[in-house]
Amino acid sequence: MKQFEYLRPTAQQAALAAVAKTAGAKFIAGGTNLLDLMKRQVMTPDRLIDINKLPLKEINTLNNGIHIGALALNSVVAEHETVRKHSELLSQALHAGASAQLRNMATVGGNLMQRTRCPYFYDTSMPCNKREPGTGCSALKGYNRMHAIFGASEHCIAVNPSDMNVALAALDAIVYVTGTKGERQIPILDFHRLPGDHPEKDTVLDKNDLITAVFIPSNTLNHHHYLKVRDRASYAFALVSVAAGLEIAGKTIKTARLAMGGVAHKPWRLKEAEQFLQGKEASVQTFEQAAAVAMRGAKSYGDNDFKLKLAPNSIVEALMVASGIDNY
Ligand code: SF4
Repeated sequence: MKQFEYLRPTAQQAALAAVAKTAGAKFIAGGTNLLDLMKRQVMTPDRLIDINKLPLKEINTLNNGIHIGALALNSVVAEHETVRKHSELLSQALHAGASAQLRNMATVGGNLMQRTRCPYFYDTSMPCNKREPGTGCSALKGYNRMHAIFGASEHCIAVNPSDMNVALAALDAIVYVTGTKGERQIPILDFHRLPGDHPEKDTVLDKNDLITAVFIPSNTLNHHHYLKVRDRASYAFALVSVAAGLEIAGKTIKTARLAMGGVAHKPWRLKEAEQFLQGKEASVQTFEQAAAVAMRGAKSYGDNDFKLKLAPNSIVEALMVASGIDNY
């Protein structure tokens, strides 16, 4: 591993000053992704700013939602009473992620920033536009079983690997950021980028930006399910995942929130399918029609052709479980 300088500031301003001072500086918290990337020479920061001593761990219940500090651990958030009661989707998605050991180290801010698991990104002997812009995309004509079916570009077809981000997308979360541009609040759907011409950029953050919190607005959803389809029962990334939140009165869907993981460079919100569901009676037929709407524009690359069938089936399954349709 390349040698690096290590600092552990106790104040936010000191952390921001420390990261701004060196071009190759990075923040580190749980390190569950960054350390792997450093060991493999995929990322080689000159300076690590350990932010674990900053006071960003608190989870506060407000009148209009839940405010979660960026350093709150995934395991703590998943088990938090208010999160379980009012943002069940987030709790379910966090429990579906990684392993218990990793969830005990990984933070909310780090989860937002975790990088793709495309195998070529981690293999420094292979071309990869995300790791080395301009070198090409090995996955386009290579092994692309885990890759995107929505929003990809000719430069990159990687997917965002996070479960948490999918739930946050369905819940319209807001990411609180501070940095050289001052304090900002970024809606989660604007936080991650599609690859376009610059797949090296996963998010809209500048290098010196620090995530301080995530806010989840209150909602009226009364049915939820996070479905994760993967190769193993645990400790595996999603082939496809679906965060489904519904507000149902009688049998009528008043509100629908749907987002998918494992299918795009960012958590993929299904707004057209949500609009289709609104006002309709919850039924298998309605859910199948919504899934067909959601799949418009999907494109596969060979090894991931199966996702064209798996994705709509997963949407239907998630909606069925969320709505308890078998009980009707
Ligand atoms: Fe790199 Fe993206 Fe292509 Fe994977 S899909 S090889 S991350 S450019």
